[in-house]
Amino acid sequence: MAGEPQADCLFCKIVSGEVPATVVRETETTLAFRDINPQAPTHVLVIPKVHYPDAASLAAAEPRIAADILREAGSVAADEKIDGTGFRVVFNTGSGAGQTVFHTHAHVLGGRGLNWPPG
Ligand code: 5GP
Repeated sequence: MAGEPQADCLFCKIVSGEVPATVVRETETTLAFRDINPQAPTHVLVIPKVHYPDAASLAAAEPRIAADILREAGSVAADEKIDGTGFRVVFNTGSGAGQTVFHTHAHVLGGRGLNWPPG
């Protein structure tokens, strides 16, 4: 059922503690942890604790939690001191856009120059 933990979901397992992660922030509704394969000096993933496959489905069902993700992305940037130089928040949505884990996550990237358009 939407919002419920999925047995085969890697990020649900990080939420439950079954899979370890380097957690940098936690709220009642969100978890932020370092990406295992960082693409920038700061590369943190911010996820909802509830399971929705992507940002749009989360926002449709739980708009307050979607807003929590965006607020936490800003807090990560402030904690990491990348808010002054600029940072990027990315929600890859669908395999054609590079999504590989189908549990909503915001990538928070910064600490180096970021080109546009992305590849
Ligand atoms: P996507 O490609 O779905 O937008 O992003 C998934 C992200 O999850 C990738 O950047 C990948 O490096 C990261 N990732 C995959 N497996 C793990 C893991 O076990 N732990 C952590 N911390 N990150 C992971």
